[in-house]
Amino acid sequence: MIVVLTGGTGGAKFVDGLSRVVPHEDLTIIVNTGDDHEWWGPYVSPDIDSIAYVLAGLLSNERGWGVSGDSFHCLQAMQTLGEPAWFSVGDRDLATHLLRTRLLAEGRTLTEATQTIAERLGIRARILPMSDTRVETRIATSIGEIGFEEYFVKRRYQDKVNSVRFAGVPEAQPAPGVLDALATAEAVLIAPSNPITSIGPILAVPGIRGALAETSAQVVAVSPIIGTAAVSGPAGALMSAQGLPVSIAGIANAYDDFLDVLLADNSDRESARDFESHGQYEENRRLQIHCTNILMRNSEDREAIARTVLSLARQELMAASAEETK
Ligand code: GDP
Repeated sequence: MIVVLTGGTGGAKFVDGLSRVVPHEDLTIIVNTGDDHEWWGPYVSPDIDSIAYVLAGLLSNERGWGVSGDSFHCLQAMQTLGEPAWFSVGDRDLATHLLRTRLLAEGRTLTEATQTIAERLGIRARILPMSDTRVETRIATSIGEIGFEEYFVKRRYQDKVNSVRFAGVPEAQPAPGVLDALATAEAVLIAPSNPITSIGPILAVPGIRGALAETSAQVVAVSPIIGTAAVSGPAGALMSAQGLPVSIAGIANAYDDFLDVLLADNSDRESARDFESHGQYEENRRLQIHCTNILMRNSEDREAIARTVLSLARQELMAASAEETK
């Protein structure tokens, strides 16, 4: 089984690439739920939806979220009724939220609701929320503490970030199947998702970080940072707020207790060499940095990155078992 840890945007592109080269039933995708929120009543799980839509062939390529070709009549009607309209929910997308909300109200867990939605969309990969316990990513900004979607969508990440916390995380448990998937994985892949607000909440759920450090599978991450900036979105500002350099070194540091291979961009070759030769990673000498094109402009790029990541995970696996049999 190939196990992926992911958020919604960079993650969905990466999962799209993987789904083109790995049989879907061999994929288990552990998804961030720190962005979940109630919107007009329904329970929205933005990253789970993006991953479900990409695997079902429904994700809007232009927007990178929501359903391709969706209409927005409900959004317009809500606006007319004087309700907030800053979070765009399409009509078909709303159907997913309504179904999830009903399943949760009937007493199903988020894992069960996700499984039902995935089955009904014809998805053969396994999508697991990181936890069935509610965890909320809270951003302390110059205007006070706000939820992630308010920071990211409503305020377009313009506010200065002081810190990030995951409310509810001390009581949270990994969703059923998460720890087992990590322990028995053939390879664990970290999508080029925001390390603070997409991968960060997953790692913060008690037990998950330890399971990553302990798994015998190779852990391979794709960097969301190229040079000194994120490919898109606020990852750079959030990394700085958490004291991490905005570079591949920052990504390596964020994952230093479990990462085996980091896939970085060709343009970061020099930083990769510097990083390796200046011993910035003394604590973890195992880390290999491999450079290639990591910008996913089209499906060919996505597929090529997926193939590279899988071959790195497998080569490392072979090297590790050769070492063991010496
Ligand atoms: P979110 O839940 O919507 O924030 O989505 P993710 O965390 O999964 O994705 C956001 C991250 O994806 C950002 O930090 C981007 O830098 C990264 N990203 C977006 N497109 C690309 C790409 O083409 N290549 C790489 N390497 N990273 C990307």
